[in-house]
Amino acid sequence: MIACITHEMSGWACRAHGVHHEGCTGVTSLGEACLGCAPAEATAGMLCASCWRKLVQVDHDIMPYLAYLRTGPSSVRVENIRVKTSTEPSIPIPASVLAAHDLGAYVGDWYRYWGTELRDIVTSPDGARAAVELYREVQRVQRKWPAVDRAHRVPYVKCRACKKLGLVYKPPLEYRGDIVVQCRFCHAVEPYELMLLDAMVLEQEQAKTGQSRRAQEREQQ
Ligand SMILES: [Zn+2]
Ligand SMILES: [Zn+2]
Ligand SMILES: [Zn+2]
Repeated sequence: MIACITHEMSGWACRAHGVHHEGCTGVTSLGEACLGCAPAEATAGMLCASCWRKLVQVDHDIMPYLAYLRTGPSSVRVENIRVKTSTEPSIPIPASVLAAHDLGAYVGDWYRYWGTELRDIVTSPDGARAAVELYREVQRVQRKWPAVDRAHRVPYVKCRACKKLGLVYKPPLEYRGDIVVQCRFCHAVEPYELMLLDAMVLEQEQAKTGQSRRAQEREQQ
């Protein structure tokens, strides 16, 4: 039997469900029931069935996911907006957009180097290792910005109609559907783009006040 390539890598190594080493007592070192401690068998090239499933899933989802990250609803959240710390006028870039850029570059390089024939790629140890690294990296970003979007109150940005902090963000009901931003006080519906614009203006003002405050502090010294 060939074990899943994860047994030759750092991090999580795949175990076979319900299959145990000879010496297994049925209880893990944490005192929990052992669900399986023998290495998972490589069934797709040098990957186990679980790794293969994750790889195929990532391969299938990556383009729509990157598009989602670039324009995605999570980019509207003010706490995700990063301001470049230079003296030049700063344009806030949502951190999720930066993540999309980095991940897009990584994934692009990966496919340029390895190609798209996943079945063939995972037959070599190097290819299988690279495949695990690929799905782990994509999953890491997806954990940070899950494609499943939830309704939440919008912080900082005021409703254009009543000027209160009442905006609620409602995710699209379907993929690429419309995002609804509605005020819970006056019930006015606001275009998502306008809210994003307000968030960015606000962020720029904060950056400016920060700069002038620092300038004043320097003068006083
Ligand atoms: Zn066991
Ligand atoms: Zn595996
Ligand atoms: Zn309102």
